[in-house]
Amino acid sequence: MKNKLKLSEQKCIRCEEFIPELRLKALPGTKTCVSCSDVKTKKPVTVQLGEGDHTYNELVILEDEQFNKYMSQKSIYKQQQPPEQSA
Ligand SMILES: [Zn+2]
Repeated sequence: MKNKLKLSEQKCIRCEEFIPELRLKALPGTKTCVSCSDVKTKKPVTVQLGEGDHTYNELVILEDEQFNKYMSQKSIYKQQQPPEQSA
């Protein structure tokens, strides 16, 4: 069974691939496919704020670049954090 995205008649101006119809619907007038798009994808991350018993989570939307930076820093933070205390 084929499960391919339905393609539109419009070609990407950069790579000449047909642009999926859904993308054109979502972004009318777009001239590039997803991979050629200049618009960077945004990614949500959950960050924990506050200290001690007063921590709360917040969802932050980051640009792709920021996200990668955050993820690389996160692994460093994790190593620096003291082990979790069992209550
Ligand atoms: Zn393209």
